[in-house]
Amino acid sequence: MKNIVILGATGSIGLNTLDVIARHPDKYRTLAISAHSNWKGLNELCKKHKPKYAILVEEEAAENLRNISPKGVEVLSGESALDNIASHDEADFVMAAIVGGAGMSSTFSAAMAGKRIMLANKESLVLGGALLMNAVKKSGAEIIPVDSEHSAIFQCLQAGKDGLNKIQLTASGGPFLNRPFESLNTVTPEEACKHPNWKMGQKISVDSATMMNKGLEVIEASFLFNLPASQIEVVVHPQSIVHSCVYYDDGSVLSQLGLPDMRSAISYALSFPERHSSGVKPLDLTKQPPLEFFPPDLKKYKCLEIAYLAIKKGGGAPGTLNAANEVAVDAFLKNKIGFLDISKIIERTLNETPGQNLDTLASVVENDQLSRQLALSLISKND
Ligand code: NDP
Ligand code: MG
Repeated sequence: MKNIVILGATGSIGLNTLDVIARHPDKYRTLAISAHSNWKGLNELCKKHKPKYAILVEEEAAENLRNISPKGVEVLSGESALDNIASHDEADFVMAAIVGGAGMSSTFSAAMAGKRIMLANKESLVLGGALLMNAVKKSGAEIIPVDSEHSAIFQCLQAGKDGLNKIQLTASGGPFLNRPFESLNTVTPEEACKHPNWKMGQKISVDSATMMNKGLEVIEASFLFNLPASQIEVVVHPQSIVHSCVYYDDGSVLSQLGLPDMRSAISYALSFPERHSSGVKPLDLTKQPPLEFFPPDLKKYKCLEIAYLAIKKGGGAPGTLNAANEVAVDAFLKNKIGFLDISKIIERTLNETPGQNLDTLASVVENDQLSRQLALSLISKND
């Protein structure tokens, strides 16, 4: 029996994780679930999944939950409670599914405590990739990727890395794949969040529309699989059936396919190295529309190009890219800037930030905060 901690339980990945876990009561027990402030949602999950601990970052929300939570659930609060639960003695596997840089600290905590990290929070690697991979190595922790592309590559690489030529991440192209670039300035947050294939949280949905999501994923892949950006390619595949590919020197290409449902990757992160059912319907290739592949249009998906530049710049640049993106996406969702302003804010923040080396967690956090401040000031000048 494995004890599971689900950080970001009220979100899209969190709910899917609880769905998979509930299918295997003989294998998993929900030790703890967390949310930021959604105490009503977390209470519903407490009733259904009976965790030992429920954590809310916001104190007031935690107080509300304490007043109504089912018996036997201990309600904890604050950011430190996330770090503590991620390294808790009783925890075996930690699902890192908090959105954004806010998920980094608890991921590090789980890494230093030697846990299996089921990593959805790609931002942890983008911000502190080298440090995180070192912490994992030192403690004997494991990172099993949950991001569908990285799960696909991880699955293919079970065949080994010998003779590996390159990896190729597939990208759906998001909701604006067939819209002309010129018309993008007027798109609304609602339109940007309507992903054609995946049901996800708002932030990652906007990232998919700008293709910054793929940019973050290239950075994520470079740390996870220890590959330079030159060996990581992106291809647009609107059907989201081929989840990614690994190319070998002998001309062979390995790939993992499946319907676009995150429960496959979540299930694999739980069961690795074995497999078990996830609730995902079987893929019937005879009933799929033709599978298409083409190179990304970098004028339209400027964010992808900027992400490659950030990897090249190195040091704190990926962290700055992530911070500026979070600030810009938030401003876009609040109708403060236009869709095409997102890449402009990120580019300017990157240009104005010195790309120093970050060798401690404290310096990663400081770089994140300074980059956010700069991006915010650029947005206020944009008014
Ligand atoms: P959602 O927005 O659906 O959920 C986010 C979760 O994080 C919620 O539980 C939310 O709590 C919590 N949260 C938000 N802000 C904070 C904070 N400051 N501190 C602590 N907890 C917080 O996100 P997704 O599930 O879509 O994404 C989660 C992560 O997984 C992201 O890093 C994303 O990039 C990655 N990912 C997601 C995929 C998907 O299909 N959704 C696919 C691949 C990767 P509350 O409800 O209280 O706000
Ligand atoms: Mg992905």
